[in-house]
Amino acid sequence: MNEKAETIVQDKVDKGHTPWPFRPRWRIRGCLVAETPLFIGSGDNSERDDFVVDGKPVEIADCLRDHRGLPVIPATSLRGILRDVLRQGLQGIEVEQFKRLFGEDSEQEDSGHGGEVEFLDAPLSLRRPENTPLPHWDDNKQTWLEIINSIDRERGAAAENHLAHAETVAPGTGFDFCITGQFTEAKTDIPLLLAALEAFNDPDAPVTLGADTISGKGRMRWELASVEKFDQQAVLDWLEQTDRGHADNAFQPVTDAKLQQLLEQAEKHSPKKNEAHIFDIHLHFDGPFLVNNPLTAAQVKREKKLPQEQRTPDAKPRTDVMGRVILPAKSLRGVLRGHGERILRTLLDLDQDAWRNTGLMGKIEELIACRPEIHDHACKPLRDGEKPEGDGEQEAKLCLACQLFGAPGWRSPVAIDDFTLVEDEYEIQTQEMLAVDRFTGGGKDSAKYNARAIISPVFRGRIRLDQGRSQQWSLGLLSLVLRDLMDGELRFGWGAAGKGYGHCKTAQIGKWEEQDFQKEAQESWRNLIEKIGEIKAEIGNDQPTGAAQTR
Ligand SMILES: [Zn+2]
Repeated sequence: MNEKAETIVQDKVDKGHTPWPFRPRWRIRGCLVAETPLFIGSGDNSERDDFVVDGKPVEIADCLRDHRGLPVIPATSLRGILRDVLRQGLQGIEVEQFKRLFGEDSEQEDSGHGGEVEFLDAPLSLRRPENTPLPHWDDNKQTWLEIINSIDRERGAAAENHLAHAETVAPGTGFDFCITGQFTEAKTDIPLLLAALEAFNDPDAPVTLGADTISGKGRMRWELASVEKFDQQAVLDWLEQTDRGHADNAFQPVTDAKLQQLLEQAEKHSPKKNEAHIFDIHLHFDGPFLVNNPLTAAQVKREKKLPQEQRTPDAKPRTDVMGRVILPAKSLRGVLRGHGERILRTLLDLDQDAWRNTGLMGKIEELIACRPEIHDHACKPLRDGEKPEGDGEQEAKLCLACQLFGAPGWRSPVAIDDFTLVEDEYEIQTQEMLAVDRFTGGGKDSAKYNARAIISPVFRGRIRLDQGRSQQWSLGLLSLVLRDLMDGELRFGWGAAGKGYGHCKTAQIGKWEEQDFQKEAQESWRNLIEKIGEIKAEIGNDQPTGAAQTR
């Protein structure tokens, strides 16, 4: 052993006698209760023997489950969400404190750790009742199967034709939440974390979990249960107990006065005001309205023996978990986007010859409006996922329509809720029709089928444009779409098929008449024209044969 090594050994022995500074361990516990449907996918798909449509098993996107087979919110999701809240949404946080709590290179981090805050998976703790009235409700699994009836951009399947299902957690389901840590600056760290958790309860722009949050999914209510501490005294008390259990039990809640103090400090980290345009909208329909709620195979089988008049109509209105008739957010988004694409192309003001120039069309799809329903004509998904606001590099790779209405890997700045039927006495009409597969959603063999529609309903809902995530022209394009919606130019649900269904004759939009809004919308509209002009010039340079004629 050389001299140097001996010194090291000696050093270690000496240090062994120094008392180790005890740093208390803290724990924040509470419950996250789903307010809207929640889907956190496991990445796997499955099929069920008893769930077959048109002879083919239905593909089901699995949700993430724990060892008990129950849905679970993974530590990684919780960590990611709270990290984003602290990084982007709260006032009065120091960079150093953020790094200390959440770790340095947290983007690539794939665990609940990496900083002083340690996250645990949140297991399901509050079950839904056994007879929960939801399609394919499975009490053991605590999920139902929600229809995801939308444009599947990866595969290019069309909207109403493609029926996918997802194992979804129902509103009212609760999850036990727990974070712990030995914090360097507990006095300021704990209030900061409490403030971040409050972001779940923000009425206007709540933090959300899981998939499809721009359609109102994944809203959670946060209920704080306790702030607990495991300090020197707690250790001693715990050691003295003869029946002491796991060291976990040694955590002791802070006094009420202390908790009050922590919560008051948390309030100082008020959320940054997230600028957004909120449109509260009433849609007034003229004539029959129907967004189909396809029958399940089991239902069809059960009802086959019944006389026709006792059967459930083949096509009947879509309802949400509360049994309310809805115009699903995704249907609405699809229609608004489609119209936005048309407006964008019109603004290009090209002549007829130009539309026959395939090279030019390719450029227009790339820069102005792609065709999400056709795989090769859709924008490529953004690989790196979302970037924090202010970083315009990622979304600039998308066409304008995708930048506003969203694309795989890019969360749209336009959030749309499911629109719900305004309660009233509506006439219901059942119409006999000849079956066309894509309208029945599958399931019935007979050529005839009947559809139950609501006559001239009114739907109510909210559209929210997040200004932090949008471009200078975004409000302009959105308001052009909304203006045409008010003018009665759009059709929804079955209306897309030109059956005389789903004509929205007018829309009332709360803030439309406000002067400030009009001024902003007009300015943004000018920005849109400018943007289109720039793109047109760019295309013109690349495409001398096509675009040159349009000048
Ligand atoms: Zn696109």
